Amino acid sequence: MTPVHIRSAVQTLPAYVPGARSTGDGIAKLSSNELPYPAQDSVIAALTGAATGVNRYPEMTGDTLVEAIARRHSVAPEQVVVGNGSVALVQHVLDTVCDEGDDVVLPWRSFEAYPICIAVAGARAIKVPVTADGRHDVPAMLAAITPRTRVVIACTPNNPTGPALTAAELAELVEGVPERVLVLVDEAYLDFVTDDAVGDALSLLADHPNLLVSRTFSKAHALAGMRVGYLVGEPGIISAIRSVATPFGVNLPAQAAAVAALEPAALAETARRAAAVAAERDRVLDALREQGWQLPDAQGNFYWLQVGDQTTALAAHLRDAGILARPFTGEGVRISVGTPAENDRVLAAVAAWRALHA
Ligand SMILES: *Cc1c(COP(=O)(O)O)cnc(C)c1O
Repeated sequence: MTPVHIRSAVQTLPAYVPGARSTGDGIAKLSSNELPYPAQDSVIAALTGAATGVNRYPEMTGDTLVEAIARRHSVAPEQVVVGNGSVALVQHVLDTVCDEGDDVVLPWRSFEAYPICIAVAGARAIKVPVTADGRHDVPAMLAAITPRTRVVIACTPNNPTGPALTAAELAELVEGVPERVLVLVDEAYLDFVTDDAVGDALSLLADHPNLLVSRTFSKAHALAGMRVGYLVGEPGIISAIRSVATPFGVNLPAQAAAVAALEPAALAETARRAAAVAAERDRVLDALREQGWQLPDAQGNFYWLQVGDQTTALAAHLRDAGILARPFTGEGVRISVGTPAENDRVLAAVAAWRALHA
């Protein structure tokens, strides 16, 4: 026990449980929704090349990277801020707009970083349960908005349940939120979406100055270890967030890697890999449903086995089969899409589980 005063909000923070890390060869690490492939050669060349320059500070606000992101999305550089992973940016957003005791409306179960960031900002999490099939309950989220609400968060595709918001749901959400309230749409897994009905929040930016879209290099770009994310929004909000963000928050090799990842050839390869992962996901889902599993839609690079009080036992069963998944105690097990061979191992392991338990 430290004699130093710790804010009560910090003393009671829920723990962020990281996905288990691999402890040896032959372990399928399917616990953190990473890409099962290494970063591309051109990206690794850029980041190792940058290593010789690390006696110098990087660009403070990552202007070269910001310009490359702005070009990619056809927005102005003033509409983009980069950060040390999109989770750091979520914290900066909340620190920018929330006063002590303000409310943040979010779907739940969703990304476990949100309640932590909300509590650190001194705000209150107003958790709106997702539907039985793991979807955002947009009408209930809108109904939860009060004069104390500062932010509404959406996660599409939703981690860990899997479904993404349709364009109609996204429009209903964004149009239903009063302009004084920020809407933060986290699209970390958008690259893996294959359902044409799913919306893209960037397309709504022009009409909604209270909308912020979060993206990351951690998933489809295979750069989770580099820690780079970004937000796109109206210049006034972006400028306020930039003033809160850590100076030089994206390190020099990470800036170089992310710029290289936005080169046209790298983007094309990223899209090809994301499509391959999505095809594997759909193959696995079909096979699981064939086994008798009831699963929500999966539009990210992961799927959700909602086994309730059997969660810990199923995760242990998978671990015994050399598979690291991500259990959410009492709720379910989230499994990332891996290589075809890893996915086949999961299918065999959960079939064996069903034979024992279903
Ligand atoms: C993995 C993930 C991110 C990425 O976070 P980074 O800090 O950019 O690595 C963001 N949002 C959700 C919902 C995620 O699952």
